[in-house]
Amino acid sequence: MSRIEPPASVKPPLHYIGGEFRAGREGRTFPTLNPTTNEPISDVAEGTEPDVDAAVAAARKAFEDGWGSMPARERAAWMERIADAIEEHGDELVALEVLDVGLPVTQASAQTVRAADNFRFFAREITQEHSEAYRVGDEFLNYVIRKPVGVAGLITPWNTPFMLETWKVAPALATGNTAVLKPAEWAPLTAHKLAEVMAEIDLPPGVLNVVSGIGEVAGAALVRHPGVRLISFTGETSTGQEIMRNGAGSVKRYSFELGGKSPVVVFEDADLDRALDGAIFGVFTLNGERCTAGSRILVQEPVYERFVDALGERGSRIRVGDPFDQATELGPLIRPEHWDRVKGYVDAGVEEGARLVVGGHRPEHLPDGNYLEATVFADVRPDARIFQEEIFGPVVVVTPFRDEEEAVRLGNDVRYGLTGYVWTGDVRRGHRVAQALEAGMVWINSQNVRDLRIPFGGVKDSGVGREGGRYSLDFYSDTETIHVALGEHHIPRLGAD
Ligand code: NAD
Repeated sequence: MSRIEPPASVKPPLHYIGGEFRAGREGRTFPTLNPTTNEPISDVAEGTEPDVDAAVAAARKAFEDGWGSMPARERAAWMERIADAIEEHGDELVALEVLDVGLPVTQASAQTVRAADNFRFFAREITQEHSEAYRVGDEFLNYVIRKPVGVAGLITPWNTPFMLETWKVAPALATGNTAVLKPAEWAPLTAHKLAEVMAEIDLPPGVLNVVSGIGEVAGAALVRHPGVRLISFTGETSTGQEIMRNGAGSVKRYSFELGGKSPVVVFEDADLDRALDGAIFGVFTLNGERCTAGSRILVQEPVYERFVDALGERGSRIRVGDPFDQATELGPLIRPEHWDRVKGYVDAGVEEGARLVVGGHRPEHLPDGNYLEATVFADVRPDARIFQEEIFGPVVVVTPFRDEEEAVRLGNDVRYGLTGYVWTGDVRRGHRVAQALEAGMVWINSQNVRDLRIPFGGVKDSGVGREGGRYSLDFYSDTETIHVALGEHHIPRLGAD
C-alpha cells in the first residue's frame, strides 16, 4: 500500500440538496475535530428542519422524475459508475476517514474497498432479481413484484462512517428509492466527499442528498418527516429507542442496527493460537469502536490462565499511535468525551474488583489526542458493568467458565445479541453453542469475515430487522402481489336475482 498522507486542506462541507452544495438555511455550522489533537479540522454546515424539508422535497422530485421507474439495468450502470468513482477517489476518501475518525490507515483502506464493493454488489443483485409466482389451481395466478418505497432516510454512526453510509446508500438507490443521508456529526467528512463523487459523475440531482447536523435536530426532523417512507438507522440502542418514540407520528418502516456486547467463547480443545489472534483482532481493530466487537471473552477453566496471560502479553505489544502510520494498530478514540466515557469504564472495572491485566491508561508517548492503551480485564464477574455494558473502545473483559452449559448461559447473560464467536476443536459442539447463543450472527473458528449476501443484524437490544443481500432488497422495497383470474371463476351475484 502506498503511503497515504493527511489531506493538505479540507473544504468546509456544505449540504448536498437537489444536486447543489448549500449552506444551512439557518446559517449554522459545527466543527469536526481531529482525534489526534482535538483541534478543529473544518466547520461543517449544520442542518435544521428547513434543510431536511428541502432535502426530502428534492429526493421526492428525483424519485418522481424517473429514478423510481428507471429500468434496473440503467440503475445498475449508475451503481457501477459510483463504485468506479469511489475507487478513483480511494486515497482521498481514506485520508479523510483517517483524519476525521482516527481509524488506522490500513483498516480504513480495507473499509473503503468494501464501500465500492457495496455498490457493485447491489448492481448485480438488482439485475438478477427474480420474483415469486403462485398458481392457484387453473383459475388464478398470483405473482409478486417489488417496487421502490420512495424517499429513504439513512442515519449513520461515526465508527466506520464511509463503509456504513455506502452499506445503506447502495441498496436504497439500487432498488429505485431516492435518499437523504444524515451522517454522524462526529465524522461527517466522507459523507460529504461521497456527495462530491455523486456530483462529479452527474448522478441525477436529488437522488442522493446529504444533510449534516446534530442527531436530535436534523436526524429527528428526518424521522418525523411524513414524506420519508423508511428509516435505516445504525447507532446506539438508546438512540434507536428515541427514534421509535419520535417516529410514532408517521407510519414508516424501520431497520435498527444497534449496540453489542458480543461473546467470544474459547473451549479448551480450540486452536488457542488462532483463537487468540481472532479475539485480539475482533476487539482491538477499528480502535475497539466496533459494533460486532467480541468484547467479552469466555474461556474454559483448564486453559483460562494461559489464555489471559497470552492476551495480556499480546495486548501490551499492540502498537498505539498516529493513525496515518501504516504500522499503527490502534489509533485514538474519536472524541475527548468518548475517551472520558471509555476511561470511566476502566475505572469502574477496577472499582468493581476486576483484575486489570494490561493497559487502562493513556500511552506515555502520546500526551495529546484521545489515545488509550489496549486494555484487558480478567476475572470479571457477570454482574459487573464492564461485562454488561457496551464500552465501544479498546477494552476487553475475560471470564472463566466450567462447561458448555455455563458458556452459553454467560454468553447470553446481557441485553445485547449482535454477534458471537465460538472456538472449539469439536465441530458438533461448535454448532450446538453457535445455535444456542442469542445473536444475529455467529462465527465458528473464524474472525469476523462477512459475505455481502448474508443477513446482517441483531436480536434483543442489538436491533430489529436485517439488511444485507436480498434482505436489503426486501427492506428497501415494497412488495406488491398481483392476483390474476385466468378464466371465468365463480363470483357470487349479490342483488342480481
Ligand atoms: P448514535 O446513536 O449516537 O448516533 C448515530 C446517528 O444517529 C448519528 O448520525 C446521530 O446524529 C443520529 N441521532 C442521534 N440522536 C438522534 C435522534 N434523536 N433522532 C435521529 N437521529 C439521531 O451512535 P454513535 O455513537 O454514532 O455510534 C456508536 C453506536 O453505534 C454503538 O452503540 C455501536 O454499537 C452502534 N453501531 C451498530 C452497528 C450495527 O450494525 N449494529 C454498526 C456500527 C455501530
